[in-house]
Amino acid sequence: MDYDMLVIGSGPSGRRAAVQSAKLGKSVLVVDRGRRLGGVSVHTGTIPSKTLRETVLNLSGWRERGFYGRGYRVKQDISISDLVDRLHKTLDHEVEVLQHQFMRNTVRSARAAVKFLTPNKVSLTADNGDYSEVGFANALIAVGTRPHRPADVPFDRKRVFDSDEMLELHHLPRTLTVIGAGVIGVEYATIFSALDVPVTLVEPRNTILDFIDREIVDDFIHQMRDRGMTIRLGSTVKEIASKPDHAEVTLADGRTIRSEMVLYAAGRTGNVASLGLDAVGIEADARGRIKVDPQTFQTSVPNIYASGDVIGFPSLASTSMEQGRVAACHAFGVNLPPPPESFPYGIYAVPEISTVGLSEEQVRESGAAYEVGLARFRETSRGHIMGVSSGFLKLLFSVETRRLLGAHIVGEGATELIHIGQAVINLGGTVDFFVNNTFNYPTLAEAYKIAGLDAWNRMGQGKLD
Ligand SMILES: Cc1cc2nc3c(=O)[nH]c(=O)nc-3n(C[C@H](O)[C@H](O)[C@H](O)COP(=O)(O)OP(=O)(O)OC[C@H]3O[C@@H](n4cnc5c(N)ncnc54)[C@H](O)[C@@H]3O)c2cc1C
Repeated sequence: MDYDMLVIGSGPSGRRAAVQSAKLGKSVLVVDRGRRLGGVSVHTGTIPSKTLRETVLNLSGWRERGFYGRGYRVKQDISISDLVDRLHKTLDHEVEVLQHQFMRNTVRSARAAVKFLTPNKVSLTADNGDYSEVGFANALIAVGTRPHRPADVPFDRKRVFDSDEMLELHHLPRTLTVIGAGVIGVEYATIFSALDVPVTLVEPRNTILDFIDREIVDDFIHQMRDRGMTIRLGSTVKEIASKPDHAEVTLADGRTIRSEMVLYAAGRTGNVASLGLDAVGIEADARGRIKVDPQTFQTSVPNIYASGDVIGFPSLASTSMEQGRVAACHAFGVNLPPPPESFPYGIYAVPEISTVGLSEEQVRESGAAYEVGLARFRETSRGHIMGVSSGFLKLLFSVETRRLLGAHIVGEGATELIHIGQAVINLGGTVDFFVNNTFNYPTLAEAYKIAGLDAWNRMGQGKLD
């Protein structure tokens, strides 16, 4: 065999699996067909959208508007180059860190498209046509996904874009329609809205973000509407047309929406078409997702693993990394404890949402008696200092065991703050943790104390020993 581990794809999952395999003393080759290492996460997904968000919040003065009013701006005329400059610097740095990490760990990498020939051999085809074959003991398919592009949507990089193409805009849209209120859709819609671009968000279903606690989503929708975004739920798109000076979206109920640009963000498809999965007998579903054993990440072929977005939900960089590590450990016989049940989910919209554990709907469905503790950020001294006027933390506790069942946040710092809830849930902590412990003051984290006390007051009989 040429390599102990062949990793296909250099996104978060492939990267983590490669480094873990190398740390175990194994020979590793990472092959990616992209121009640079890093995958969707570095080049078109997580890092670019988060960099864009950070730049927009900084230059627009968004975080200061609670004090100085909605008309406040740090930079008056924000252009696309203001946004893109910072993006390129961040991406270059990410790639450099990744290359250095591979070098330090003697992980080899190659640029080529990979195709399976047998369960122990692949072909590599470079852009210039160079062809070679590589043998491996284990392989990890970490090829990720690409935007779903229905044939009847006129993508033209001028009026109608997918989420990859949004990073190549030549100028900021004067008006924007976003189709699809999934995580990617709401992130971009709210980022552009924070730049004062009038945004219409269209979603065929009557609800959005169904895996998130309803009270959090209701508040989020209220905040979007409050700042002038138009949200059309239950609206099916019949046609999208690209006209010379605008784009036109026709809804099934006959209404039309005109805007300068349209972002179509309705789902993603696994990159499996050219992988030659037939040659090894691995099947993918209609959206290009591969089925794996959820504990080991083995496909139907035991020495071939799959992880990251190509195996479907939750399709996060964070979970993809962990899946890659677990797959590599399994391949080389390292026993790991079962993973904690709860992991955090972050939505970097404006405002942020983050959640861990059970939603109130799930707790109610389980039939268990529960109590809720709530803290509004504007009730905290840190919130006053920051001029925060919205956002809250919601905690759910079991009345019987007093344990924390779920933590849900909408507002400033949500994706950082959630890890306190995650630690308490996964360590089996109770409401008494929040009541008995001292929190730094003034912090937004103090909201945990306030929400804990809120629930404790109603639950009574706290064990304050
Ligand atoms: C706009 C956007 C925002 C996001 N924001 C977040 C966020 O805030 N937080 C978060 O946790 N997640 C976020 N995600 C999701 C995150 O980017 C993905 O979960 C993550 O990138 C998946 O990693 P992966 O390892 O599956 O591979 P990917 O990052 O998808 O990379 C796959 C790689 O495989 C390569 N490849 C594909 N086919 C072949 C082949 N045949 N041969 C060789 N190479 C191949 C590709 O070139 C690519 O480089 C976001 C995604 C998008 C699109």
